[in-house]
Amino acid sequence: MNIILLGPPGSGKGTQSSHLAKKYSLNHLSTGDVLRSEIVSGSKLGKEASKYMNEGNLVPDEVIIGMVSQKLSAIDSVLLDGFPRTLNQAKALDNELSNLSKTINHVLYFNVPSEELIQRLSQRLSCRNCPNTFTKSENNPSCKSDSSCEEQELYQREDDKPEAISIRMKNYTDLTEPLLNFYKEKNLMTNIDANKSIAEVSEQIDKIIHI
Ligand code: AMP
Repeated sequence: MNIILLGPPGSGKGTQSSHLAKKYSLNHLSTGDVLRSEIVSGSKLGKEASKYMNEGNLVPDEVIIGMVSQKLSAIDSVLLDGFPRTLNQAKALDNELSNLSKTINHVLYFNVPSEELIQRLSQRLSCRNCPNTFTKSENNPSCKSDSSCEEQELYQREDDKPEAISIRMKNYTDLTEPLLNFYKEKNLMTNIDANKSIAEVSEQIDKIIHI
């Protein structure tokens, strides 16, 4: 089974991914997570991507498409989180899957009002060591208290700062939203009301992809 999670930044795709990947034995492929580890490792790809990412802009299609194609050929079922984000990427994904004799089974669209997204992103703290994220609170959370990760200090991603958030939202509207029609026309898309608790969003997804 191959699934795409589509939705604006902050709509909860990453949060749902670990549950979904485990439950349905899917390989979670988050392009944002892959790029952040490339940055940490100091690779050429990471250096190229970091400028775009810090500003809140999309990394160029050819870079992302090459990176995803390489990963797709090495795995079986995939849960795509943060890819595709442009029509070019969606078309390249169709080609790549067709070459591998695979198809997309579901596209889940995480629908959240924009005021809520801005609130979530500006309050978000991330772990440097793993993909976990938290909400800012008075008793600063640490990743260690919540998981097997040893990291004590959380940080605010450069692209979760106000200026970058506005650019990300605009890029989402201009470049990613057209994908909703692209997948609607292929009868692959289901709306998820993602302005709900984590458990309620999971429940909606389970009903759709239950096998
Ligand atoms: P995310 O963790 O999904 O919010 O992604 C963080 C950043 O990584 C994005 O703002 C982009 O700069 C970059 N990125 C992740 N996925 C893609 C993609 N499919 N196309 C272009 N840039 C991407």
